[in-house]
Amino acid sequence: MSGESRAVPGESEFVFELCVCQWAERAWPPCGSRDDGTVSVVARQLGTKHRRWDTVVVECDPEGLARRANFGERELDSDLLHVVRNAPAEWAWYRDALPDPGYPWRYVRAAVHRAADRGLVERRRRDNRIQLRRKWDYPAWVERVVAIENKPDLDASAARDLAPQLQRDVALGLADEVWVATVATADGVEPALLEDLPVEAGILTVDADGRADVAWHPRTLAVDDPGTRILDRPGGGDRDASAARFEYAGVDWKRDKRTVIAERAYGRGWRDYAGAMRPDCRHFRLTDTRAGFLPSCSAKGCHQSAAECAGSCPEFEPEPPAWRTKGWPVEGGPGAAIERLLARQRRRHRPGLEAD
Ligand code: SF4
Repeated sequence: MSGESRAVPGESEFVFELCVCQWAERAWPPCGSRDDGTVSVVARQLGTKHRRWDTVVVECDPEGLARRANFGERELDSDLLHVVRNAPAEWAWYRDALPDPGYPWRYVRAAVHRAADRGLVERRRRDNRIQLRRKWDYPAWVERVVAIENKPDLDASAARDLAPQLQRDVALGLADEVWVATVATADGVEPALLEDLPVEAGILTVDADGRADVAWHPRTLAVDDPGTRILDRPGGGDRDASAARFEYAGVDWKRDKRTVIAERAYGRGWRDYAGAMRPDCRHFRLTDTRAGFLPSCSAKGCHQSAAECAGSCPEFEPEPPAWRTKGWPVEGGPGAAIERLLARQRRRHRPGLEAD
């Protein structure tokens, strides 16, 4: 790691996204206070099959979050959630104990085995039938899910491009709030840009020190009501007389999807970017900036994006083998140590998990 420097949030969307994630982890919520003890779990690049949000903040009940740790640090997918949420207090055949999932029971049986292998439920075989019993109640740990779209350069054309996505988010009401985060400028956010964006979406401005201010407050969306999924919205104009296409999103679907998104956020966090980059390159650094730790490249002299920091990078050079034997633990060189550091930092923000 290298010494402290000033981050430049507008340098690339990727770097800006990391700044927003670090700020959210440090200082969420942007209005109000943390006096009620709410804890936030922050992740990036999560959502549904149809929509991926740049940053996701899950506001958690602290007690529920601590109890969630019983189920380990890895995320629970929807099949595992079906098992752990419905596992009975006393031994029972899994088909008697679990609600009909609406898909073949063999997938449920496989999920019961997966859950037992991970130590999430107890399992035994009686009369050639698989029985299960719960170890812990799955807690209600998710209070609110907040989506942030990161647009460091929010000009008129970016606002026009972003508006339909935000309108879809508002109509669906899967997240409690949607925000746009952009770089703070001396002139603030132009009123004309605000007009292009739905009034329900909030706007945050993030400065070069990674601090955020609210330029526009969001409205709370109706997550407990059915939502509308906008599948197709005609562009309009003289030549486009096609109808918009919508789909209904039920309350149960939304509730389950919110939990699945929260679980992914819990398991992945936002520091998993290192897995998509090349920390094993001799030029890779983790730089301590005023906005937090950011990856940087000593060969390029900048905070590189995840896309350019790949094996195909022309300046990629593997860590010299000597780095892995002299002064570094046997588990690997500096690159492996950076990945372990990021994993440790993620764990520190999950109450109830043991630090290694
Ligand atoms: S040289 Fe290329 S691969 Fe190596 S750290 Fe820099 S951007 Fe990443």
